[in-house]
Amino acid sequence: MYILAIDTSADETAAAITSGRKILSYISYTQILQHREWGGIVPSIAKRAHEERIDFVVAEVCRKAARYIKPQGGELLKKIDYIAVTHGPGLAIALEVGIKKAKELAIKYEKKLISVNHMEGHIYSCFVQNSRGKPAGEFQFPYLALLLSGGHSEIVLFEDHLRYKKLGETRDDAAGEAIDKAARLLGFGYPGGPAIEKLAKEAGDKDDYKFPRPMIGTNTLEFSFSGLKTAFYYFFKSLPDEEKTKKVRELASSFQQAVLAVVLAKMVLAVEQTGVKNIVVGGGVSANHRLRSQLRALAKKVNGRIFFPPYPFLTGDNAAMIGVAAYYKAQANVFADLNLLDRIPRLSFA
Ligand code: ATP
Repeated sequence: MYILAIDTSADETAAAITSGRKILSYISYTQILQHREWGGIVPSIAKRAHEERIDFVVAEVCRKAARYIKPQGGELLKKIDYIAVTHGPGLAIALEVGIKKAKELAIKYEKKLISVNHMEGHIYSCFVQNSRGKPAGEFQFPYLALLLSGGHSEIVLFEDHLRYKKLGETRDDAAGEAIDKAARLLGFGYPGGPAIEKLAKEAGDKDDYKFPRPMIGTNTLEFSFSGLKTAFYYFFKSLPDEEKTKKVRELASSFQQAVLAVVLAKMVLAVEQTGVKNIVVGGGVSANHRLRSQLRALAKKVNGRIFFPPYPFLTGDNAAMIGVAAYYKAQANVFADLNLLDRIPRLSFA
């Protein structure tokens, strides 16, 4: 089963062609440079950039997939079975571009449409395979899904294909958002995660400043990162300029330690509360090596298994994860109505 998947939920114009769990081709065309000078994503710029690139991105994934699928009469899309698209959560006017293109192609090529929740995609990113079917391994439900991105921080019970139950989420800022803001204060551009991770590593992952760990001791699976962000802001502003520069590594390291300590504590609690020991981790922050090693240690301790997106591009926004989630929807005969499909910017798990 071949699927063309499209994701334009934020600042990546992404398309992929997948076959089951395998990626046959993908492109994630980033807009980072266009948003960088504004310190975050500007919706109108995102919409225009998606509109300018969407045709190219779809054409390119078709061209690349021709290695695996023989085009019919020169048109590879004729051989595609379904068209999948992210319908939320995300920026309304950005989502709209992908949905419009998916509908247009569905009509032209007479294909059924599949709508996918972007966060559902981040869960399935842990199960995406390359074109040779690697990494192999079957699903062993249930899983605890930890989703940490620039827009979301949540823990979801992934009971079976298409069955999700949200156990907790952030009350304010997402983990990635807080990290980006701290990085900006320290003088680093968007996205701040890689810079903070690098500085923390250079500081030996020390925790000199012991910043607050909001909600760490509470018996809930909810997060809150805005208090930490504010504490970091005032502490940083109170430092003499010389120390701000001299201690940049230690500051980044302590901030990262605070974020990761909360995340780890919530995952320990989630395992205790649910008895579920298999964990999947998705979203941009899942690229963080320190987070990965701490969660691997947790999984080992409880005798569970842990999965991260197997290829670096799968940690951020991409369409391959949308194609793989869509495959399980197609198998369950869950299709979207062409006339009713619309963007849902605040789409959430129940
Ligand atoms: P969403 O997926 O919820 O729509 P998004 O598009 O902002 O949000 P992603 O692309 O999944 O999210 O993630 C981006 C976030 O991941 C940014 O906040 C970025 O700083 C963070 N990030 C990327 N790499 C790392 C890293 N190595 N360590 C920590 N955070 C990281």
